[in-house]
Amino acid sequence: MRNKVIAGNWKMYTTIEEGVVLVKGLNAGLENNTLENKKIIVIPPFLHIPSVIEEVKKAGKIHVGAQNCHHEKEGAYTGEISPRMLKQAGVEYVTLGHSERRQYFKEDNGMLTIKTAAALAENLLPIYCCGETLSEREAGKEREIVQQQVEEGLFNLTEEQIKNVIVAYEPVWAIGTGKTASPEQAQEMHAHIRGLFRTKYGENIASDLIILYGGSVKPNNAAELFGMPDIDGGLVGGASLKAEDFLGIITSC
Ligand code: PEP
Repeated sequence: MRNKVIAGNWKMYTTIEEGVVLVKGLNAGLENNTLENKKIIVIPPFLHIPSVIEEVKKAGKIHVGAQNCHHEKEGAYTGEISPRMLKQAGVEYVTLGHSERRQYFKEDNGMLTIKTAAALAENLLPIYCCGETLSEREAGKEREIVQQQVEEGLFNLTEEQIKNVIVAYEPVWAIGTGKTASPEQAQEMHAHIRGLFRTKYGENIASDLIILYGGSVKPNNAAELFGMPDIDGGLVGGASLKAEDFLGIITSC
């Protein structure tokens, strides 16, 4: 059985102090929760990482991810952070290919495949994001687009590498819009993604693959989405910024 994973992407929100208060609230809310078969990840801005790690360590219930990384270990890349630096700071996960990175920073599948391999080389676990835009869905191209993102971004990885990757399906039209994919729409795409992995890597890898849904997940819709057979949890943006909401999502799955 696959574990459920609930990851909170804080994007470029919160001060360091607010981030620490948020984690204190999550620690307190999870005090009596054994989190059996569940993994909780928070993904704060880079600057917050040391303070957030210090705080999560006090309760030992939450893992920490970063929102992006460069592909080199070090070098003359002003403004960038390497996988090695993240690992040294105690980070375990890194989101790659979030639609905001693809849209505003022109990250494409070719760049993302390099970043994914670089993260894995430092034992950082990638959460690889994919998803179609509204116009792509309206044109009936959503399966094709997601397939291309998955194949070009991930399918040069070996079986050993791919076991350490989480996929997040995030339809762009549902991110930050309050418009969620229906559980059936999300399930259909998750089954499609799992099918791609089955064809490429075989049944064992496909059935162990964790595929998160992202796009306006809230406490009142999480249970229905996470109850679908191929949805293994969520990548949560807005609702991860309030302890009460994020805890509501965690407890509803
Ligand atoms: C996200 O940032 O990945 C996301 C899904 O955001 P939201 O939950 O706010 O739609």
